[in-house]
Amino acid sequence: MRFLIALLICAVPARAEIRVVTDIAPVYALVATVMEGAGSPELIVPQGASVHHHAMRPSEARALAQADVMFWIGPGLAPWLEKPVSTLGADAVGVPLIEAEGVHLLPFREGALFGGGDHDHSHDHGHEDEEASDPHVWLDPDNGVLFLQVIADALAKADPENADLFARNAKQGQERLRKIDAEIDEKLGQVRGVPFIVLHDGFHYFEDHFAIEAIGAISGSDAQTPGAARLAELRAAVPDSRLACAFGEPQSGDKLIQTVTEGLDVRTDTLDSLGAKIPLTPALYEVLLISMADSMVRCLKG
Ligand SMILES: [Zn+2]
Repeated sequence: MRFLIALLICAVPARAEIRVVTDIAPVYALVATVMEGAGSPELIVPQGASVHHHAMRPSEARALAQADVMFWIGPGLAPWLEKPVSTLGADAVGVPLIEAEGVHLLPFREGALFGGGDHDHSHDHGHEDEEASDPHVWLDPDNGVLFLQVIADALAKADPENADLFARNAKQGQERLRKIDAEIDEKLGQVRGVPFIVLHDGFHYFEDHFAIEAIGAISGSDAQTPGAARLAELRAAVPDSRLACAFGEPQSGDKLIQTVTEGLDVRTDTLDSLGAKIPLTPALYEVLLISMADSMVRCLKG
């Protein structure tokens, strides 16, 4: 009898799992958080690759073509993904998170030096749209909280049997994020106002949320190689800026950082906004936020 029951249990066909793919590791982690206990997503942009300029390998294209649901930031971050996502299967759903209702958007910053002082962008809200916005939206933890909900809702439609699990996981993730948000806010209190620059203008959401703004960026938001004029502008401004730190990124060399800070007493560190150096688990997004804050404290405090 016992044998028979065991046999019956084994014979119940496994429920067909939905295939979920994600663009970057932070989105992977948010989706994996919501899916925990019901499978896990696949990652298209490998950790350590540059999301702005990635060339998809055949295995990545295949994963995308077979997806039931694709969560991605949107074409502003990864222009090369726009075409493959538009050719997803007829029953597949693409969810560009930057288009989520209620998402906090920031306009692009202009130039190599951001000015500072006159910091009021609140009047811009309402006019902003995702086309004209800085695409690095995941670095605002408020957006992370929103995305967990958006992901749970989209997954519930694709896999209604697990809707309760998705909702529960999302809620727990949101609670953890709010706690981490408050802890980071307190941690960064000790280094607010210390001048720093970043390698590419990809951290504005984090800076804005925690009120710790860079004075400039070597490359623009799209991470294109900067022109000579932009480099010269930064290089000229750095000696008088009391610059404490220049942040590089794990997926890029530090040649540009050296060009701008050469001969000056400026510390360097890295900001890992994509989680390139963080184990690929559901916790990656939370670890990413904490480690960015730790890098800032380490380098700015000296
Ligand atoms: Zn970027």
